[in-house]
Amino acid sequence: MISGSLLNTNRQCSRPAFLGLAALLAIFIAATQLRADEPYARSRDYDLQHSKIALRFDLEQKKVLGEVTHSLSILRDGTAKIVFDSAGLTIQKVTVNKAAAKFETTTGKLIIPLAAEAKSGEKFDITIKYEGKPTKGMYFILPDKDYPDRPSQIWTQGESEDTHYYLPTYDYPNDRLTTETILTVPASWITVSNGKLISVSDAGKGLKTWYWKESVPSSTYLITVVAGEFDEEKASWRGIPVTYYAPKGRGDRLPLNYSRTPDMMELFSTKFGVDYPWEKYAQVMVDDFVAGGMENSSATTNTSNSLVHPKLASEYPTGQDDLISHELGHQWFGDLVTCKDWGDVWLNEGFATFLETVWSEAHFGKDQADYERWNGAREWFASGSLWNKPLVRHDFDDSSEFDGNAYDKGGWILYMLRHQIGEDAFYRGLKHYLEANRGKNVVTADLSKAIEEATHTSVDQFFSQWVYGAGAPKFNLSYTYDAEKHQVMLAVKQTQKVEGRVGLFRIPVEVEITTASGPKLYNLTVSKDSQTFSLPAEFAPLMVLFDKGGHVLKSAEFHKEKKEWLYQLKNAADLADRADAVVALGKLKNDEEVVAALGEALRNDKAWGVRATAADTLGKLGGASASKRLLAALDSNDKPWVRSRVVTALGNFKDDAAVAAKLNSVAQQDDSYRARAAALQALGRLKGPNAFATLEAAVAADSPDGFLRNAALRSFGPLGDDKAVPLLLHWSAPGKPIDSRTAAIRSLASLQKDNQDITKQIAAYITEPHFRVRMAAIYALGGRGDATAVPALEALLKSDDLSIEMTPMIKGQIARLKKPADGKSSAHTGSGDDGEESAEDDGEKLTTEQRLEKLEHMLQEMNERLKSMEKRLPSPKP
Ligand SMILES: [Zn+2]
Repeated sequence: MISGSLLNTNRQCSRPAFLGLAALLAIFIAATQLRADEPYARSRDYDLQHSKIALRFDLEQKKVLGEVTHSLSILRDGTAKIVFDSAGLTIQKVTVNKAAAKFETTTGKLIIPLAAEAKSGEKFDITIKYEGKPTKGMYFILPDKDYPDRPSQIWTQGESEDTHYYLPTYDYPNDRLTTETILTVPASWITVSNGKLISVSDAGKGLKTWYWKESVPSSTYLITVVAGEFDEEKASWRGIPVTYYAPKGRGDRLPLNYSRTPDMMELFSTKFGVDYPWEKYAQVMVDDFVAGGMENSSATTNTSNSLVHPKLASEYPTGQDDLISHELGHQWFGDLVTCKDWGDVWLNEGFATFLETVWSEAHFGKDQADYERWNGAREWFASGSLWNKPLVRHDFDDSSEFDGNAYDKGGWILYMLRHQIGEDAFYRGLKHYLEANRGKNVVTADLSKAIEEATHTSVDQFFSQWVYGAGAPKFNLSYTYDAEKHQVMLAVKQTQKVEGRVGLFRIPVEVEITTASGPKLYNLTVSKDSQTFSLPAEFAPLMVLFDKGGHVLKSAEFHKEKKEWLYQLKNAADLADRADAVVALGKLKNDEEVVAALGEALRNDKAWGVRATAADTLGKLGGASASKRLLAALDSNDKPWVRSRVVTALGNFKDDAAVAAKLNSVAQQDDSYRARAAALQALGRLKGPNAFATLEAAVAADSPDGFLRNAALRSFGPLGDDKAVPLLLHWSAPGKPIDSRTAAIRSLASLQKDNQDITKQIAAYITEPHFRVRMAAIYALGGRGDATAVPALEALLKSDDLSIEMTPMIKGQIARLKKPADGKSSAHTGSGDDGEESAEDDGEKLTTEQRLEKLEHMLQEMNERLKSMEKRLPSPKP
């Protein structure tokens, strides 16, 4: 699965937003109570082999009416009863081998005693007739009085253990089954489920029955049911149907955002040496999805936010490809081969995250992939809560297994493994892993074993430190040059605190020394807390690169002179080394030479990631010279994703009339909508004299999908002008576009803080059916700091339609209100007011309160769902 945050159309690139959010959420959730998923695989009494699932729907009641026949085979002698997971469903009738049977239910189980104790290998067909109004697992998105034109959609989200809220079944990954899904729906609807479409037949009374059959076994959390009013587009890959679905009316957005899917299928099939394993590949985009994307076998579900408006789509460097490649990658890593328990979920998510960059590298080039990776490492280091947790862990009672380790560190580790053992060996190992475990459930040892069998390279030590251990190396580096001996003495210290699961790392590292006679590369192995390497160098070095190209997940403080950083910024071949130089130079304040060099990089570096990082850095350095260079960069007409970063950086220059004037003009007119949105956000932060009028005009004007209106609505909060209240009340009201409502609610929370009527108004939104409005309102109440909202939040906790992810979020907000922050929680000085997450090198300095605040901010800004699922957290795609 992938979290909603990752997919935001406002993001700069997937990784920063994702990881940052993961980290924030991890902290947030750690402070709250959360029912964890079961960390260890269950023992099994039976093997569920096939389920024939027939569903009808009562739309008025939002009910599912089901009949399922499970074919199972007993695994243990003496089995006296069959237990299925089943929550909130009314069981009407059960038959065992067609004979009526007794049954009992508990809160989460359906228990069917057998007539006699069964033997291992004995087979049963158990049919269950039931109905229910699912509170999770299955979601009904239907037109209502406020949104009469919304296309009807019913969709499911099984991961992690939510399938049994709409279907009594075995709801843990360590079992696999084939399915038939038979869906009877209004004749004008379309349905999508796992496997092949066998038939569509008339069912009378204006209904049709769709019959889907999946003949490749997978786990129950990967079962999917989608039905509703959709537009369909068809393509194919090597003769396999590739289909895309959009909520009715948005079908024209499918080709633009999704048409690279077959190319990705080709790339992955070729790289893995294992062809795409399912009979078709469908991607269905649904409204109000609780995740960003979910890799159901052969039929992925994604948020409809990925259907970006044609006028905006070209303003994102990789389009929606992070999401698309992530979920597609899961069709092998997650679906064909599935983690046996949630403690090994990195085997799903780490691979899917890694594969995003594999596609990026192949399609958009090395610089794009390098930048995603470089930025991801910085974000990961900024997220302290992940530090001491190993990748494989079974102690996630109070946090989520779907954290930034499973995704981003997992992806990084696979990248490092590829780099260390080489591309050929790496993919040989993956091919063997996929073939040996095809259709099976795995733990991490299956991966290391397969790699070793295929390559004869021991990866035990690698797995021990990176996967079963925690943390990552932090280096302190310096060197001297001995002119007589012609040697560079490179001193390497590992400074991470060795404790718990964090140890010293043993890592191969490439060091490049550039002198007047050119660059030379040396391979070292670092393993101690303090080591000095002597390396030959004919002349004094112009540049020494430790881990050239940035192939190790690490942080490094390299003590170099300014002139070497300047040289590195200009001359290093790889993006990571130039970007490191930008960051290092950003620590040298009041230095005209530095500002000039960053300005030069902003204008001329060949990689946009370096240009954008230079813009961020100039924004942080401040000063007249920096603002001049940023303003000049706006005349160069760089890509929209750089341009918006430049504009965001300008938002740091208070009391600079030239900046304010320029921001005003960009906000009103620019070729880039993202730059205009960033300018609207910056104006709010700067609180300039014309800001209110500019924002007000932007709210009144039309733009694609209300993109500028929403940016302006978000900006009224930071602007802090109470005159905006009537406008915000207007746009937060039911019937307005959901994105506008969430933006308005967010800003409303910051204004007239002593006005309890506003608190009441926001509190009225927490019981609405719209998930995003609800989440926005809940967070807004927490941030507003008005304790009169506590009873409404407490009442909400008692309602029966909360998704499991909402409960801890609500509790967290109640806690904030009961214990008011000492600081000013309303100061939204975050870097990403328009969702532009600039690199977070200040992440470590944030207090928990600020992180919470930022989390809230991001959640709303990004307009995404929080269940993230990626779960229970949500974490970060990508
Ligand atoms: Zn995923």
